[in-house]
Amino acid sequence: MTTPLKQHLIDPEICIRCYTCEMTCPIQAITHNDDNVVVDAEICNFCMDCIPVCPTGSIDEWRVVATPYSLDEQFGWDELPAQEDLGEGASGDSGIEALDDAVAALLAEAHAGVGGKSVAPKSASKPSVNLYNLAKPAKATVQGNYRLTRDPDHDVRHIILDFGGQPMPVLEGQSIGIIPPGTDAEGKPHLPRLYSVSSPRDGERPNYNNVSLTVKREAGGLCSNYVCDLKPGDEVQVTGPFGATFLMPDDPEARLLMICTGTGSAPMRAFTMRRGRSVGARSGGMVMFFGARAPESLPYFGPLKKVPAAVLEQHLVYSRAGAAKEYVQDRMLIEEERVAELLTDPRTHIYVCGLRGMEEGVESAFTSIAESIGESWPALRDVMRGEGRYHVETY
Ligand code: NAP
Repeated sequence: MTTPLKQHLIDPEICIRCYTCEMTCPIQAITHNDDNVVVDAEICNFCMDCIPVCPTGSIDEWRVVATPYSLDEQFGWDELPAQEDLGEGASGDSGIEALDDAVAALLAEAHAGVGGKSVAPKSASKPSVNLYNLAKPAKATVQGNYRLTRDPDHDVRHIILDFGGQPMPVLEGQSIGIIPPGTDAEGKPHLPRLYSVSSPRDGERPNYNNVSLTVKREAGGLCSNYVCDLKPGDEVQVTGPFGATFLMPDDPEARLLMICTGTGSAPMRAFTMRRGRSVGARSGGMVMFFGARAPESLPYFGPLKKVPAAVLEQHLVYSRAGAAKEYVQDRMLIEEERVAELLTDPRTHIYVCGLRGMEEGVESAFTSIAESIGESWPALRDVMRGEGRYHVETY
């Protein structure tokens, strides 16, 4: 018989087609057509680089097969095929057990954060993921839709979704998917778009089964316009929850350094509310660098002003409000001593969320600040990441 092998696959029901895995794969083993993102069994070498970057976990699927599924077969799937029955002896005779062990070890490494991979904070609660997918979405009812920004060219909304009797256990830092109604040019349902939850685990309103999102209207954006136009009482189809590493530590002594731009503030709001409702100022504290064009376009500007400094130290930074353009990384350098002190504390957890473009500037600020105290940022960052204390989510 043909030697069975372990094949790496992607679950089309959960995948949100963000193509991050495809961009990450160092050997171009991942590709896509209009329908699905797929792994080429002839190229994949099980390096596992794609595993931790997937926001939904749909990448982490495996089947033992006699003949690998072809790309065309995978392109045609609406759901993953069940594990085929290869008959007794297939695994023992073929060395598949050894392969299994090797793949399991690599997967454990990918999930454990060795070598720069993401890992959840040690004290974080265990997240629930993928409870709802495209085939079986949750149905939420819109409870509120509030405009957060006064800037006429920058419409950011605070959307509250109620899940009624359906379980939707989300932790701070997780995301959910929203399925826009209607179909695409080929008559297929639209794929979900991912949004970070901006409310804490006990609900936007304490002990209600509701969550909030922070959504910016994008010109021509199919889902952002749908979400920003929602009315109270509308029904919304939701997938998720997603995300198993960008999570908040439950340890009240943990110190949070949060760096965000625009709607990347969503998870930071969730973290702040969680702290506010649980330990408040009796904690390691939180320091935030938050960049926006101007106060009128900074989401939650008003509510932020009411958060006590003992809970949250705020550095609000504007790029279009004065004569000089200032970015979060510029302010970090101005606050070099503050940031350096946080970097040296093993209780510090760093969260970066927002525009992809900010990553380079933030990295270079950390490099310079670490150098000022005789540290190497890449070495420090790798230790922090391995310990679940360094998290980046940029788009
Ligand atoms: P935005 O208003 O366009 O930008 C926010 C601020 O970042 C502005 O002051 C902007 O300055 C500045 N900025 C631009 N380039 C920068 C760079 N290289 N380094 C540092 N700062 C820079 O932001 P937005 O439209 O809200 O977009 C936020 C992004 O976060 C989106 O891409 C979104 O997808 C992403 N995100 C959202 C969530 C969520 O759930 N809501 C989660 C993660 C990520 P100027 O434009 O004036 O130069």
